[in-house]
Amino acid sequence: MAVPRFWREQPQRYRLVGTECPKCKGVYFPPRSVCPTCRRASVGKMRPRQLAGRGKILTFTVVHQPADGFELQVPYVMAIVELDEGCRVMTQIVNADPGAVRSGLPVEACFRRIREDGKSGVIYYGYKFRPVRGKTATPPSVIVEAQPRRRRA
Ligand code: ZN
Repeated sequence: MAVPRFWREQPQRYRLVGTECPKCKGVYFPPRSVCPTCRRASVGKMRPRQLAGRGKILTFTVVHQPADGFELQVPYVMAIVELDEGCRVMTQIVNADPGAVRSGLPVEACFRRIREDGKSGVIYYGYKFRPVRGKTATPPSVIVEAQPRRRRA
């Protein structure tokens, strides 16, 4: 990922800001400039919408072959999370035992380092999701308390 593109995406990466169509109330993330339902009627009318960062896992996969830059994190869980606002995000699930993740698990957004660019030394941060704590719907076995520090030497 190039640095300029990353900075352009800062607001949504940091704050989970999507867009809302004032006509049909559809919420989209990543932000859209046109509502796919209302199309022309929504042009120029889409509004920023702060997402609460809560939702549940729809589907997930446990990744054993890491993407470039994720070598130290395998196995890790990538999931499609349906947010309370109705839109879906592809995200990494953290603070969870991959074996205990399941569909329907309530999750919340958290702010995490995503990757580090070894050449430039740039560290990328963004949202990830973790199981919601303190809810009976979340089995205690899912939650891993200690998040090991993963620093590259
Ligand atoms: Zn619409």
